[in-house]
Amino acid sequence: MMKTAFLYDDVFLEHETGEGHPERAERLRTMLRRLEEGGYFGRVLTVPTRAADERHLELIHKKEYVERVKRGIESGEEFFDSIDNTVCTRTYDVALYAVGGCLNMCDAVMSGRASNGFCAVRPPGHHAESQKAGGFCFFNNVAIAARYVQTEYGITRVAIVDWDVHHGNGTQDAFQEDDSVYYISLHQYPYYPGTGAEADIGYGRGLGYTLNIPVKAGSGNSHYLQAFNERVLPELERFRPEVVLVSAGFDAHRDDPLSSINLTGDMYYRFTKMLKDVAHRHASDRLIAFLEGGYNVDVCADGAEQVIRALLED
Ligand SMILES: [Zn+2]
Repeated sequence: MMKTAFLYDDVFLEHETGEGHPERAERLRTMLRRLEEGGYFGRVLTVPTRAADERHLELIHKKEYVERVKRGIESGEEFFDSIDNTVCTRTYDVALYAVGGCLNMCDAVMSGRASNGFCAVRPPGHHAESQKAGGFCFFNNVAIAARYVQTEYGITRVAIVDWDVHHGNGTQDAFQEDDSVYYISLHQYPYYPGTGAEADIGYGRGLGYTLNIPVKAGSGNSHYLQAFNERVLPELERFRPEVVLVSAGFDAHRDDPLSSINLTGDMYYRFTKMLKDVAHRHASDRLIAFLEGGYNVDVCADGAEQVIRALLED
């Protein structure tokens, strides 16, 4: 029987980004309210969080970077590495809890306590590179999770599908020379952060294990469905991932204030169903979605509900 796990903790609200910042605690508050109203909490396995060990951060990030984030935040500066990355005194700890919770989710799914799961965390992660923060991200939750299932559970092939409207430069950076983690991204292009050209397909041993699908502003559902059917799904069939990870941002929605892609909310249900089929065929159903962006709080809440509804179905 399918069991869906859900990660959330109030500690994720304690990363305060300041007045008017799009990546704000209200995103998660609204999502939690929506899931409560929908009666989801009786149906999911709740995963607790923990602070990640620094050795787990170092699966992706340089030790010097981890130290620099810690000191930078403790110094009382208003932002770290980028003016987008505003911080408060709690930011370092909250980021550790976000990563640690995601690793607990990996444990829940890898141990078979759950088949799949959704991580409602912040700060998000996919823009964080091994030595650089950016795009509201400090530590790369999904990338650390990919390495964690490899090192802790002996998994060889991990797929990361990133449908956040922005290219996950940090995730690509982590795996572009690696044939064991296949990074696939659909993103508005040209757009922030500027990476993710079609021609970037990895290099060295990783050649052919990065797939960038740049999407023009103004595109919508049909464009994405075609890309999934003609490119994403065939590539996943070829790769046969043992675990499917998803960078689930909800900012490609037509009502998101930051982007110019026009998806409707039901697409998040459909994407999840398609990836769940892949996970069923190749990965013993193991699929974990990680919240990335999504800056219209109602759209973000609805997106999470769509994903969780698809995950729960038998
Ligand atoms: Zn985004």
